[in-house]
Amino acid sequence: MPDILVKVQSTEETAGIMTYAALKKIPVVVRGAGTGLVGGAVALCKGIMIETGAMNHILELDRENLTVTVEPGVLLMDLAAYAEENKLFYPPDPGEKSATIGGNISTNAGGMRAVKYGVTRDYVRGLTVVLPTGEVIRLGGKVVKNSSGYSLMNLIIGSEGTLGIITEATLKLLPLPELTVSLLIPFSTIEAAIEIVPRIIEAQVQAVAIEFMERSTILFAEDFLGKKFPDTDSDAYILLTFDGNSREEVENSFEKAADLCLSYGAKDVFLVDTEERKDSVWSARGAFLEAIKASAAEMDECDVVVPRSRVADL
Ligand SMILES: Cc1cc2nc3c(=O)[nH]c(=O)nc-3n(C[C@H](O)[C@H](O)[C@H](O)COP(=O)(O)OP(=O)(O)OC[C@H]3O[C@@H](n4cnc5c(N)ncnc54)[C@H](O)[C@@H]3O)c2cc1C
Repeated sequence: MPDILVKVQSTEETAGIMTYAALKKIPVVVRGAGTGLVGGAVALCKGIMIETGAMNHILELDRENLTVTVEPGVLLMDLAAYAEENKLFYPPDPGEKSATIGGNISTNAGGMRAVKYGVTRDYVRGLTVVLPTGEVIRLGGKVVKNSSGYSLMNLIIGSEGTLGIITEATLKLLPLPELTVSLLIPFSTIEAAIEIVPRIIEAQVQAVAIEFMERSTILFAEDFLGKKFPDTDSDAYILLTFDGNSREEVENSFEKAADLCLSYGAKDVFLVDTEERKDSVWSARGAFLEAIKASAAEMDECDVVVPRSRVADL
């Protein structure tokens, strides 16, 4: 537990606290929604905890430059909904929608759309950061490219609050794709399901998401949610998502991917295009972590970070 919790409201207030803490040599930890999985927002050395939840305003939508400027405590789900209301799209989609944008930037969150759209770093255009001394710096801006000097902005992204406190962020948006369709593809073995992934990427079918699902995890999710998954007869599944602006464009991609999977031993291809199927598949995907936790006495959670071609071996 920290000695004191401060719910900051502005850059100036944050700068004031940091100046004071530097002067008195008091440890400071910054916290967004506290959903991070590695304990970065825990006040191990006590001191001051700065919480950004009250800095939750969307400050500007710039349609000409396709950027949105937000305070760090804006929740990912609120930003995603705001973008969509404006027919725009903020692609980063890590599993936890109640995380803050400040937390997403500080962990360089990836998530389910990273295959096609990249990770949070790819959407950060500018940052306002309060340094440990209390000095306020502005990095980047609305420009698409900047080749002057070291990219301090990229040093801040993913630094888990160790270098400074993000108090404002300008993020890139995209036009909202008109259509999204998923395919659920069963395989007889886990290896066959995993080994198809580099081939799908090589075939340039531009999947938004490529998710691997094991039968046992799906059964946990069915129990946990009390909802049936479309198919549970196979050991492993790949869930592919495609988006685009016309049915023809999306169909082209998913037909190519479906043929490829069938030629490499997929048992079938289920189209996830009705609301009911979308809900059953994506709610199961979203509940995996909680479902496994609920069904196991002990769980060790880790990210798989090896080249794609070696995932099946791992
Ligand atoms: C169910 C679940 C699924 C997830 N799935 C994915 C996934 O698919 N891909 C992925 O990449 N991640 C995933 N995550 C991790 C997710 O990216 C983080 O939980 C989230 O980004 C943290 O945001 P937060 O607001 O909760 O930050 P916190 O947990 O509060 O903080 C996280 C870190 O950022 C720092 N920080 C927070 N705000 C600021 C700020 N304003 N300035 C500077 N530093 C700050 C904190 O000090 C801490 O080190 C998942 C998490 C959960 C719980």
